[in-house]
Amino acid sequence: MVIRAVAVIGAGTMGAGIAQVCAQAGWDTRLFDSFSESLERGMASIEEFWNKGIELGKTSSDQKSEWMTSLVAASNISDAVDGVDLVVEAVPEKMDLKQKIFRELEEVAPSHAILATNTSGLQISMIAHSTGCPERVIGMHFFNPVPVMPLLEIVEHEGVAPETIEIARLVAEAMGKTSILVRDVPGFATSRLGVVLGNEAIRMLAEGVASASDIDTAMRLGYRHPMGPLELSDLVGLDVRMDILNSLADAFEDDSYRPHPMLEELVAKGFLGKKTGQGIYDWSDGERKER
Ligand code: NAD
Repeated sequence: MVIRAVAVIGAGTMGAGIAQVCAQAGWDTRLFDSFSESLERGMASIEEFWNKGIELGKTSSDQKSEWMTSLVAASNISDAVDGVDLVVEAVPEKMDLKQKIFRELEEVAPSHAILATNTSGLQISMIAHSTGCPERVIGMHFFNPVPVMPLLEIVEHEGVAPETIEIARLVAEAMGKTSILVRDVPGFATSRLGVVLGNEAIRMLAEGVASASDIDTAMRLGYRHPMGPLELSDLVGLDVRMDILNSLADAFEDDSYRPHPMLEELVAKGFLGKKTGQGIYDWSDGERKER
């Protein structure tokens, strides 16, 4: 199957990035969000990324125009999925929400379309088996920021068809990404390690082991991580990380995965990281500052 048209459901941090790389791959791309402000924000962030690329000489205005014509903001889910070959869901990390959307996608998307979820760690089989077409459902886990990060983690489950995995691999290749294939174990190969490191770094911050920037510097310079675990948590979104930790704790029945109280407090205050201007760090003027 050749991919010609793609729908992305959810226009937040990840959905906007995924729609951007789909448009860049030359596919007819529709971005949908149930909140019109989020959809507008998502579309604007894609255009801003392309404008920056022009400023930096990495792309041209002609190229941007071509990509812009491939990208459409859809006002409802049925229009978004009309005639598509692939749907990528990127709504918040809640099992019941994702299951509801997949049941709807089964109804409204073409019967040949691959239905992919960008979940960071929820069990794919639970999403797949909430539909009557588990063979078409797969995990396609992108990384933030999507246009920059070279990895696509493909997550298989016992009910997926081999052709679905093959198409997911081809999609990764067409986007210029390296794919890995991982079994359907909560947290996959990436999120499980990533969130544990972030949560432990928050525990260390709460215990006063060192300042946030010194903890981050420790991992950057001592362990050659490109970004420290606290800064990365702010970039991912503290709410997203908290949801993943809770879903791992539930899935493994192990409370050691539960979010540290400091993380819960920040989320309760609306300090969600870079996207809200405040998180573990202060990002109010776009730069990382110790709070
Ligand atoms: P986000 O909160 O930035 O975006 C989610 C979007 O979904 C919002 O714009 C919201 O309006 C929209 N939405 C909510 N309900 C909807 C519905 N019923 N229909 C359509 N749209 C709806 O979240 P995000 O960071 O983009 O994360 C999305 C998914 O990607 C989550 O499953 C998350 O775990 C996963 N993920 C996130 C990251 C990251 O770094 N943030 C990385 C990899 C995977």
